[in-house]
Amino acid sequence: MDITDGVLVLTSRTMHTTTTVLHEGSCAVVVDPAWHADELASLADLLTSRGLIPVLGWATHAHHDHVLWHPGLGTPPRLASPAAAQDAAAHLSQLRAALDMPPDLLSLAGEIAAHDGDRLPWQGPVAQILTHHAHSPGHTALWLAGPRVLIAGDMLSDVEIPLLEGSTLAQYRAGLELLAPLVEQAKILIPGHGTVARAGTADSPRARLAADRRYLDDMSGADPRLAHAHDWLLEAHEANLRRAR
Ligand SMILES: [Zn+2]
Repeated sequence: MDITDGVLVLTSRTMHTTTTVLHEGSCAVVVDPAWHADELASLADLLTSRGLIPVLGWATHAHHDHVLWHPGLGTPPRLASPAAAQDAAAHLSQLRAALDMPPDLLSLAGEIAAHDGDRLPWQGPVAQILTHHAHSPGHTALWLAGPRVLIAGDMLSDVEIPLLEGSTLAQYRAGLELLAPLVEQAKILIPGHGTVARAGTADSPRARLAADRRYLDDMSGADPRLAHAHDWLLEAHEANLRRAR
C-alpha cells in the first residue's frame, strides 16, 4: 500500500481499480478514489488515522469509476483537465446511472471542475499533468519527477488491453507516445486498473509500454491479457476492432 515515500496505492475489489494518494506533511491529494461505498469509507478512515487531510481531489478522466468521492474525504477542490471536466458535466446523468451507490455518494460522483495548469495545485512535491485524448477526452497522467512515479490512469495496465473507448486509434497512439519518455524514466508505474509495475522487474513500466504498443500494432487478439479475460474485456477488444477500422 505504501508504494514509495509520499505515495499510497489502494486497490478496489472490482476491476483492480486503483486509488492513489500523494501526501506530504498532513496534506494529501486523492487521485481517482475507488470504488464501493465501504472502500471509500475505509479510505477516508485510513487518511484520518494517518493524520492526512485531503487538500485536493484529482480525476484522471471522466469515467464513472474515476470520479467518485466520499464525505469523509472533506470538501477540497476536485479537479480534472478542462476537457475531462467538460466531459463529466456533459454526461453526468449517464455517469451516475452506471453506478450502484447510496444517494449521498451518488450525488458527489462526477462533481469535478476544470484545472488548466500543467501541475497539480498543491504545496507538496511537483506533480506534472500530462493531458491527451487516448481512451477518454482530456485524459491525464501525473508524473512525479522526484520519485519517478507515473500515475497513468486507464493505460499501461497488466490486466486490461488498451481501451480505445472515446478515442481513435491515432489519438490513443498519440497519448501513449506522450507518456513514453516518462515510462522510460519511471521507477514505478501506477495504472488505473491492475498492479503497480516496477523498473528492473519482468513486469516493468517499459514492458507495459511495449505490450500496449504491440496490441495497437496488430490488434490480433493474441494479447496475453485476453487469454483469461472476462467477457467485458473480450467485448472491448471487439469494440476496439470496430473503432480502428
Ligand atoms: Zn476509463
